[in-house]
Amino acid sequence: MPNCLFCHAPISSDLIQLNLRFCISCSMLLDEPGVRHACGVSLFSYQGYFRELILKTKVAKDHQLLPALVDLCLEHPYTKEEVARCEVIMPVPSSFWGRMRGGIDIAYFIARECAYQFGKRMRLAPFGSHWRIFKRSMQTQRQAMRLNFPRRRDSIPTLLIDDVITTGFSLLQLAYKLENSQCRFLTLGNAYSTREDQLD
Ligand SMILES: [Zn+2]
Repeated sequence: MPNCLFCHAPISSDLIQLNLRFCISCSMLLDEPGVRHACGVSLFSYQGYFRELILKTKVAKDHQLLPALVDLCLEHPYTKEEVARCEVIMPVPSSFWGRMRGGIDIAYFIARECAYQFGKRMRLAPFGSHWRIFKRSMQTQRQAMRLNFPRRRDSIPTLLIDDVITTGFSLLQLAYKLENSQCRFLTLGNAYSTREDQLD
């Protein structure tokens, strides 16, 4: 029995007759349209099956899934649009605890591959932003923040890359910290809610 090109689960024979190379869950995922935010995009909603894929890659360190996730990102039309507008690509540094646990830094791999495939420069976030993100995780406030990045003329168009957007805090912090950059962002997963009651 052949396997799904993405998650490697066996594909039933009726799907193969339909010429589908992905299992049902993966096919549904690939059909998702993505989300446009005020100053960036998210490619897939961070729930159900997709959330499992991310966690399996990040926490269980499934090295087979990582290249699949990277491909999924690189093939997405929103990715091509966003990368075309930027000069520099920068991964959002992973949280202190994430690095302590030695999980896979998905943002880093996506940024590296985007820079390579589309011929852009990759820069790492200035040292120090790591600690500020760590402090955030100690706070109890988990509200979504307005995604208004600072507008700066004559600055370097920079694309910030993260695995998932939740409150938008780490993206905003990095965008404010990079004083010579005009930032936009791209995340694989979207867990950001624009519900009014979550905004201040
Ligand atoms: Zn699959």
